[in-house]
Amino acid sequence: MRKIALAAVLALALPALAEDTVHEKKLDNGLDVLVVEKHHAPIVTIEIAVKTGAFTEDRQTNGLSHLYEHMFFKGNAAIPTQEAYMKRMQELGIKFNGTTGNERVNYFITLPAKNFAAGMRFMSDALLTPLFNQEELEKERLVVIGEYDRNESRPDYFLGLGMNKAAYGDDALRKNALGERETILHATREIMVNFKNAFYIPNNSLLTIVGDVNETEAQVLVDRYFGPNQWKAGDDPHAAHPRPPMPRLEGSKAVVVVRDNVATPSLSCMWNGPDFEHDPHATLVADVWSKLLGLRSGRFHKVFRDGGLATQASLHYRTEREGGEIGFHATLRKGPAEVRDALLKEIAAMVDDAGYFSDEELSVAQHLIATDRIYQNQSGEALTHTLSFHWASASLDFYRTYVEESAKVSLADVRAFVKHYVLGRPYVIGFLVDTKDDAKIDQATLLATPPEQRTEGLAAGVTSFKLKNGVKAIVREEPGAQIAALEVFMDGGSAYLTGETQGVERFALAAALEGSKEFPRDALRHELEHLGARTSQESGYDYSRVGVQAPTDGFQQAMAILSSCLKEPELDEKTLDQQRHQIAQGFRREEREPDALLRKVGHQIFFAGHVYENRPEGTPETMQKFDAEALRKAVKSAMTPGRVLLVVVSPFGTDDVKSALEEKFGWIKAPEGGEPARAPIAAVSPTEKFRFAPLKSAETTYISGAFALPAPTDPMFPAARVLMTLMHERLWDAIRTKRALSYAPQARFGMARAAVGSVYASSTDPKKTIVVMLEEIARIKEELAPASDLKAVLAGDLTRRAQQSESSSAQAAALGRAELLQGSWRKVYEETDELSKVTPEQVRDAARKIFADVRWTVVGREPLDEKVLERN
Ligand SMILES: [Zn+2]
Repeated sequence: MRKIALAAVLALALPALAEDTVHEKKLDNGLDVLVVEKHHAPIVTIEIAVKTGAFTEDRQTNGLSHLYEHMFFKGNAAIPTQEAYMKRMQELGIKFNGTTGNERVNYFITLPAKNFAAGMRFMSDALLTPLFNQEELEKERLVVIGEYDRNESRPDYFLGLGMNKAAYGDDALRKNALGERETILHATREIMVNFKNAFYIPNNSLLTIVGDVNETEAQVLVDRYFGPNQWKAGDDPHAAHPRPPMPRLEGSKAVVVVRDNVATPSLSCMWNGPDFEHDPHATLVADVWSKLLGLRSGRFHKVFRDGGLATQASLHYRTEREGGEIGFHATLRKGPAEVRDALLKEIAAMVDDAGYFSDEELSVAQHLIATDRIYQNQSGEALTHTLSFHWASASLDFYRTYVEESAKVSLADVRAFVKHYVLGRPYVIGFLVDTKDDAKIDQATLLATPPEQRTEGLAAGVTSFKLKNGVKAIVREEPGAQIAALEVFMDGGSAYLTGETQGVERFALAAALEGSKEFPRDALRHELEHLGARTSQESGYDYSRVGVQAPTDGFQQAMAILSSCLKEPELDEKTLDQQRHQIAQGFRREEREPDALLRKVGHQIFFAGHVYENRPEGTPETMQKFDAEALRKAVKSAMTPGRVLLVVVSPFGTDDVKSALEEKFGWIKAPEGGEPARAPIAAVSPTEKFRFAPLKSAETTYISGAFALPAPTDPMFPAARVLMTLMHERLWDAIRTKRALSYAPQARFGMARAAVGSVYASSTDPKKTIVVMLEEIARIKEELAPASDLKAVLAGDLTRRAQQSESSSAQAAALGRAELLQGSWRKVYEETDELSKVTPEQVRDAARKIFADVRWTVVGREPLDEKVLERN
């Protein structure tokens, strides 16, 4: 019922908006003019706005826009003395003021409508002929310096300053309209005149008139006092000094400000938000979000207020043309760490929990945006400010359509916005506390694990569940994603293969993706191209995976196609024949290409007698043998509830994805007689210490030293991972950079239930290269790596992994792999945190265990003797 009542209110409220017509005009000198007739009171407001402020300033001029503002209502050519000036204002009944912001400076007077013409002349004189009298400048300088003193007496001023500096570094001044004391102290009349000539030109200004005036008469006065005869256009000041975009945070930062006289400790956070220049629609969504968060009855306020965390807490956004900011501020009742964690949890919930904001709250927020506009429009003066704000920081079109467009914002838009701009994004967190307060904490404690590394943020939107037939599914809602991906995992890999059947699953799945009963080969190709869909497939020791990704519009159909391929693959003889040829080519490479041979020999040494002896890629013999029937059987036995794991990453709601999966994969059934037994995976027990494999065609010698790695569920796994990343860097440094022995030495890390890693290089001096490898292995076993080295390799590793997981399908693949091999999809998001906790001691212990037993494989033209290993 409340909803209906609300709709009725909206219907009543909206027509009132059409009340004020904004007449827009551009004069020949470039001046933008807005006139709004408002006859409810016999007054008029005249405002001049100029595109200047902190954003136009540099180290030398920071603060000039502000000082200029103070000099505006001073003597000019028409009324030189300050006494006469003040007297004239009184005569005309003028109320005046001005403000300086980051992107706009404005000056406005309100006076009786009968004095409109005189008021226009008064503003024109002030604008066009200021004297910048030295005596007045000296006086006003003191007034501005007084503003600094006043600000500095407020402890929170320093918090803002510190956070601004942390966020923007040298560019912080572009968000500091108050400016530098130095600029104010050294400003001269000449500097002011130059500043005026550069920025106070008609083609950088807006004149707004709102009140009890006639539009046509107003335009006559505009021409008379502000037209091209009085005011000449100048060079575009912004084109002359193009500014780079505001820097955006690459990592989180913490600022702790301890000062005297802090009444209540407070916590602030700042994120880089959208701005009008780069993402205008997001600024609109951000405004709706701000309104939702402002609702006193909403969850956000309840958490902080009823939870006793803060006396007051707000999370908000304000539009700017360049470098918009999202801010949080709270006056604390609990410790800063507790409030920070609560805040980050709420942000995660805004994405994770589709019901965080209700539909009703959304209507209320949108209704408030409409009524705000009505309130603003009541006051002519407030309306001039709103108009000039939009002119400077957005656009008048944006203003005109604002209420209508914000009514179109959906809760899905809001979630996508939070996901894109806030959740898991770096921030600046600031804490202000009194010198005597024991709530003081250091920067590192305040920062703790930054948002970009926290599981709660990263894992938000992921749900796992089972379909009715028992098939496990993991679904990630990725609001705003334009590509959706489905990955179908089939657990087992080599554990289901025998010497006879090795390779069958890979062959079967590759062939299945070529066509189905429902979508035969040509139809399938056509359909996938039409949808812009792509399929992929891999088969390894532990699992097989087939996937499809598509632009969101065609995703349902793409899922249906993949499902049909797995349910009833076509497997026509032409397709199989072609696949057999491709497979044979792969095997021929093993005989000719050193890297492929090295891999094959390494496999033989490590997996003799092990489950992994049965290669997922099969052998030349088995692969020529499989017929359509064998392949059909292989697909069928892979598609059982005990083996299949479905992973979807898409912008769609979890419930929608769930029903799509039920519909498209509900056909999967447990085999009669139950799921087949799977061979257990033992640790590897390699057979040979060293093997040389001759290859005539090899130009250089290829070396691999391989060793067993801990399983992904082993507690030593994180340390092993860090160790291998560090080892990679060290080999690169020792072999490539220092000695130029090899083009691309590597330390390879594998993730498998029985994993093998290796150190690898190809070199024209294999003996020396192996010696260097052995030295580096010995060193990492003996010496503790500096903590700074670990930090550095992790930073690089983090970038690499983040890059790899950018796409929906890579995310889906990572989630499924973690679920199968590490026991939980959460590991994807916990890994960074786990790796960052690894100590130098743990790395050394891992090195001692892992490098205790290294098996060498060498492929080359010239034989190499095992004795090379003894030289060390
Ligand atoms: Zn001021």
